[in-house]
Amino acid sequence: MNLKVPFFQKPEIERMALDLLQKYEAWKGVKLTPPISIDDIVEGYLRLDFQIDDLKERLSIPDVLGATWFEDKVMRIDSSLEGKEGRLSFTMAHEVGHWWMHRPYYEMEKVTLPLFSFKENVQPTPAIVCRSGRKKDSAEWQADQFAALLLMPKAMLHTLISSLQNGPVLIEDLDKSKANVAENYNLRVFAKQLIQSGFNNVSVDAMCYRLHDLTFVVDSKLHQGSLF
Ligand SMILES: [Zn+2]
Repeated sequence: MNLKVPFFQKPEIERMALDLLQKYEAWKGVKLTPPISIDDIVEGYLRLDFQIDDLKERLSIPDVLGATWFEDKVMRIDSSLEGKEGRLSFTMAHEVGHWWMHRPYYEMEKVTLPLFSFKENVQPTPAIVCRSGRKKDSAEWQADQFAALLLMPKAMLHTLISSLQNGPVLIEDLDKSKANVAENYNLRVFAKQLIQSGFNNVSVDAMCYRLHDLTFVVDSKLHQGSLF
């Protein structure tokens, strides 16, 4: 996307994701438990018009995953993600990230660039188009972070892990998989267990990255070494 946004650091992104979850929880009137219903956040709380659509055809962009039309309050996800629960939910949560974090900056830009935004008889174009293949700019990185934080809140994940076992989760050869922790077989097994125990709209890869990021998992050898 070509929208100028501030560079938010992770703690700020987490604050914004938790703010949305708190407001959604208050609106819903029940204590949230996993999985986080991203459909209900999109259509219920945010009242966006959500559609699965052939975006590749609509926008003539081959690697498009999702797009959000701020003006029309429409979110469309490409039909190639249909049936892929984890990737679909993550892309929806990513689009919610743009809506929640970046829309205010779009609104400001609209005020300063009225000629650009309000030409009559022009087919409305989406404010945000998200693609898989391109190098991620700051706004895209932020939306990915937001999606992970929204779908896998630290406190909820901690509660679930604590209910399954005491102490740190030791993963064999985790350190060897530093380049891509989602390739570690043992971590994938644990991630799948958490997905089956509640976070069932999250992909195994996304869960692996989140667990590693939170340092909820440690290399079994390193942990043993640290005892001496
Ligand atoms: Zn995006």
